[in-house]
Amino acid sequence: MTGKICCLCGNFLPDDPDHQHRERLCTKCIAARQPPFRNIYMYYMFSTDWYCQFLEADLKTPLPRKFRFSTSDKVVELAERGRGLKDLACKQALDHGIGIGRGGIHLYLTDEQYNKLKRG
Ligand SMILES: [Zn+2]
Repeated sequence: MTGKICCLCGNFLPDDPDHQHRERLCTKCIAARQPPFRNIYMYYMFSTDWYCQFLEADLKTPLPRKFRFSTSDKVVELAERGRGLKDLACKQALDHGIGIGRGGIHLYLTDEQYNKLKRG
């Protein structure tokens, strides 16, 4: 509780000038506390409207839930909510896909988001 070691694993922590004597965890334990995200792949395509389909991490097994949107903004929104836009390259790849009318993006979903796709 002095803030010098991680409360869970006992690893030494880097000095924290703002330390306020609350429990501290090392980055490893913080990461382990995050909910495990499900890696899935979203495939999107424009025909008469934007069509989104999802595949399991094996890129073969389709998930039952599908979406149709009238604007590509909704596709971007979905990618954002699925943590697919981690960096500029991801954003550019999505923009490019939307520009040519089809593409795919890896998403990282919470169990709750994943289960919704699974239910169809
Ligand atoms: Zn730790």
